Amino acid sequence: MKDNGLFGSIQLSRKVYNAIAEMGFEEPSPIQIQTIPLVLEGLDVIGQAQTGTGKTAAFGIPIMERISADSRHIQALVLTPTRELAIQVSEELAKIGKLKRIKTCPIYGGQSIDRQINTLRFGVQVVIGTPGRLLDHIRRKTIKLDHVKTLILDEADEMLDMGFIEDIEEIMQSMPSEGRQTLLFSATMPFAIASLARKYMNAPHTITISKEQLTVPLIDQFYYETRDKLEGLCSVLDVETTGKLIIFCRTKKGVDELVASLHARGYMADGLHGDLSQSQRDRVMKKFRDGKLEILVATDVAARGLDIEDITHVVNYDIPQDSESYVHRIGRTGRAGKKGVAFTFIQPREYRQLKLIEKQVKTRIIRKQLPTAADIIDRQRETIKTRLTQTIEQNKFAGYHTIVTDLMADYDVLDIAAAALKLYQEGFKEKTNDHDQVFTNNGSQPGMVRLFINAGRAQKIRPEDVVRTIASEADIPGNSIGVINIYDKFTFVEVPEDVVERVLSVMHRNSIKGCKINVEIARGK
Ligand code: AMP
Repeated sequence: MKDNGLFGSIQLSRKVYNAIAEMGFEEPSPIQIQTIPLVLEGLDVIGQAQTGTGKTAAFGIPIMERISADSRHIQALVLTPTRELAIQVSEELAKIGKLKRIKTCPIYGGQSIDRQINTLRFGVQVVIGTPGRLLDHIRRKTIKLDHVKTLILDEADEMLDMGFIEDIEEIMQSMPSEGRQTLLFSATMPFAIASLARKYMNAPHTITISKEQLTVPLIDQFYYETRDKLEGLCSVLDVETTGKLIIFCRTKKGVDELVASLHARGYMADGLHGDLSQSQRDRVMKKFRDGKLEILVATDVAARGLDIEDITHVVNYDIPQDSESYVHRIGRTGRAGKKGVAFTFIQPREYRQLKLIEKQVKTRIIRKQLPTAADIIDRQRETIKTRLTQTIEQNKFAGYHTIVTDLMADYDVLDIAAAALKLYQEGFKEKTNDHDQVFTNNGSQPGMVRLFINAGRAQKIRPEDVVRTIASEADIPGNSIGVINIYDKFTFVEVPEDVVERVLSVMHRNSIKGCKINVEIARGK
């Protein structure tokens, strides 16, 4: 794979290949396997995919391949619903096009239009923008789209929901359609999007990720939701009794970074990925097999085909890109009738991908709370007791007797021993799990955040409908939901601060009692 620029079975130019290798990608994700060859051929593609599946690179890689570095014109235009996504996509495309020196630029409202005009004048080859601001530039004639060969609609259903459909049509009409390639990505296919595709796309190929039935062995499956996955992982490692453990990361770079962070925190970990030589791999594997290494951090590719006995835990440090990969990963534990445990770490915005995996695999992944500081201290005390017992039994501490005898002149032996242990425990890292306080209070009870829902009495919504829907969709206990005020056209509901992002993510584009709703954080009272 290294020398001929083959990404899986996809032939790429050296510059693009090297750039994605630098990003740590080892092989294409399922959506990429299907999409990249079609886009390279210049065909129109509709991709049904969620965030987390690798959809950005699915269009980004072939687009960067096809762009001519010599021309300073805008050759590809990506439309995204939000500025965050525009920035994120622009950064990912810039990385893929880095060695080809392709310039990308995000364009969104709220940023100085003059600055954007200057950047555009300077010459960029890929523009990623929100529809409103792009239209602004088109009308002012500060952006030239005559040379755009590929148009990408990213998260088309979101753009529809945000009321951008007319803007999108206007943008599409203001650019050359002759020979234009159009790509459309959307998690769902509402009617308006399907008809947009029919009207503006040329015999599009539709790609969906296969949902074949997958079976999981009997493994206890849990997930942790946190914004700080490293901190979360370390606290779990501190309290869980584990034997051999494999941690999966999405990229080679991710593996290297996690191994370095774990080392810095004193854990015995080593990494396995495609960049290692055979002898390096063998060395790591031997240590792991022999039990001299507790934690193996690996990419999916590196772990494929490894047959290791006695793995007690599998950790998905990055959520798998599809359900098949989830099943492969967790199937590394629970072998030969032994009990296995799988932990998946997610960021709040990845909750939907987790739920999709759960549904496709027909399994139950149970939410687990991260250990608290008190749990960690309790666990450390247990460890101290065990080590102390071992030390007493080994009886090799005579050199310390004089200190104790000296102190015994003034203090009680029990106090001396307890103080020594305190000193010892303070040598352990101090850990707390105080999550970032991101949400400012908006008129809710302490620890709660008030949400606004754009439906109310007029839609026959009752408090129990709100509780039932939020509790079941976000997988939180109904009694954790706070005050609910239902008005004619809208509703306020309080939810615990630590689940607010999840509630927002699952309730977005969702419905209550069949009525389609929008949920956002309520403005201050
Ligand atoms: P997306 O679905 O585009 O939001 O991508 C989710 C994450 O997966 C991003 O951090 C990408 O950089 C990463 N990613 C995309 N393709 C691959 C791949 N083939 N191998 C590893 N990571 C990838």
